[in-house]
Amino acid sequence: MTTIEAGTDAATIRTETTDVLVVGAGISGIGAAYHLQQQCPDKRFIVLETQPGFGGTWRTHTYPGIRSDSDLYTFGYRFKPWTSAPIASAAEILRYLGEVIDEHDLATHIRYQHRIEAASWSSEDKRWTLDVVRTDTGERLRFHTAFLWMCQGYYRHSQGYTPDWPGMDRFGGTIVHPQTWPDDLDVTGKRVVVIGSGATAATLVPAIAERCSHVTMLQRSPTFFITGRNAIDLADQLRELDIDEEWIHEIVRRRILKDQAEFTRRSFEEPEQVRQELLGGVRHFLGDDFDVDMHFNPRYRPWRQRIAFIPDGDLFQGIADGKASVVTDEIDTFTEAGILLRSGTELEADVIVTATGFDLSVMGDIRFTVDGEPLDFAATVGYHGTMFTGVPNLAWVFGYFRASWTLRADMIGDFVCRLLNHMDERGATVVTPQLRPHERDMALLPWVDPENFNPGYLMRSLHLLPKQGDHAPWQHTQDYWSERKVFPLIDLDDSALHYD
Ligand SMILES: Cc1cc2nc3c(=O)[nH]c(=O)nc-3n(C[C@H](O)[C@H](O)[C@H](O)COP(=O)(O)OP(=O)(O)OC[C@H]3O[C@@H](n4cnc5c(N)ncnc54)[C@H](O)[C@@H]3O)c2cc1C
Repeated sequence: MTTIEAGTDAATIRTETTDVLVVGAGISGIGAAYHLQQQCPDKRFIVLETQPGFGGTWRTHTYPGIRSDSDLYTFGYRFKPWTSAPIASAAEILRYLGEVIDEHDLATHIRYQHRIEAASWSSEDKRWTLDVVRTDTGERLRFHTAFLWMCQGYYRHSQGYTPDWPGMDRFGGTIVHPQTWPDDLDVTGKRVVVIGSGATAATLVPAIAERCSHVTMLQRSPTFFITGRNAIDLADQLRELDIDEEWIHEIVRRRILKDQAEFTRRSFEEPEQVRQELLGGVRHFLGDDFDVDMHFNPRYRPWRQRIAFIPDGDLFQGIADGKASVVTDEIDTFTEAGILLRSGTELEADVIVTATGFDLSVMGDIRFTVDGEPLDFAATVGYHGTMFTGVPNLAWVFGYFRASWTLRADMIGDFVCRLLNHMDERGATVVTPQLRPHERDMALLPWVDPENFNPGYLMRSLHLLPKQGDHAPWQHTQDYWSERKVFPLIDLDDSALHYD
């Protein structure tokens, strides 16, 4: 329903009203739209997206070689089979998402180039009001919605995180962040230094190694990688037997999830053995003369940070062939010609790529208020890591680190739809999680336990994120294998949920 409303400055503001408003058209937002359509067919919904197209992460990142670091059988939705090699390029992921939109007629629900700037809840009106700007025309719009489904991801899409190193302004070459990779950047014949040791650096280095005169991966400290073929034998065998793709998808998902559960268990119970296995995978490509300990043996226990999959060991092959190299050192200063390291070595470069991660953005940089009071999500406690104390009618999809993000997006999809249907059955229009009287003094913990998982972008911004409690339903366990049992059984009449 669209209406024209008088704005405060006497201009008219086009206003639309809907039942559920989904923020973001990435994997989570498209999934939310699908689940709403399937499970809440009577609900009106709109998806608002800042960018000019769908895909989120997979549209934003355009650096050479951009690909997933987890398999698409589990990173894909449970409802749409993945039929290709498990590690996929951004283009393949965008194609898959485009098919979901087409197959389910979701396009009519999505509004691109709509940036949400503010969201205010009114207890009197029992709804959210969103202040939105069209990024193409500058027009200001307003949306009213009963329920807000936050699928905005966890980092700022407009720019990545680059530390402030001394001397950056005197470097004579080009400095780029992979998140804002220029279309016209040609690295052919250039000396390139990629700063970073995560999945992005590990993807970028082999992708440009052939073209550059040389590419160096410069890391402060090593990261774990896992190597293997970009294929799943079980999927190939089932295909040979002409098994339906729906079946293959489900069987292969179960296989992968069982193997991952076992790997996670072992990384806690026998971390040294897992460490040696991972290092063995690297040695297989680099040989015994290469200092694997120095460059690929992290100080932390396996799984404390995401372990990127390196298909066919391409990063290590590039190093073994001499087209790429890895340097483990600290930056002293940028110079006119490159980077001077603490060891005294200077790395000369024409292009420096800062693959140094993301800027965490809590709730899409939207200014939130509840009944006129600014809302600080860091002062709230998560309910099953998806809703927040004192925040009515709002859920956030925050996926897994150790398992694919989408597993949780699908799970929260079922939960939100079940909750919306339950509210209709109860005749309730508002649901708000609240700590119970005996929980007011509950110990509050960070959103993610740093002992358990501690990547840089999270550690830099942990203070901005909601808290978790020390018992259910206030924990955010990041454990797919327990949550898959817990989520379908969440008691919606639990005294922690207040209905109005
Ligand atoms: C390079 C890279 C590779 C990754 N690989 C994997 C992988 O292999 N496996 C895995 O599990 N995870 C991976 N991740 C994590 C990944 O981000 C998530 O898995 C997933 O893509 C997140 O989807 P999303 O829809 O929740 O969020 P996003 O992809 O971040 O999309 C959020 C969308 O919301 C929009 N938005 C944000 N704020 C607003 C606003 N105020 N108004 C309107 N729209 C807004 C954004 O423009 C964006 O399009 C990777 C991340 C990166 C950066």
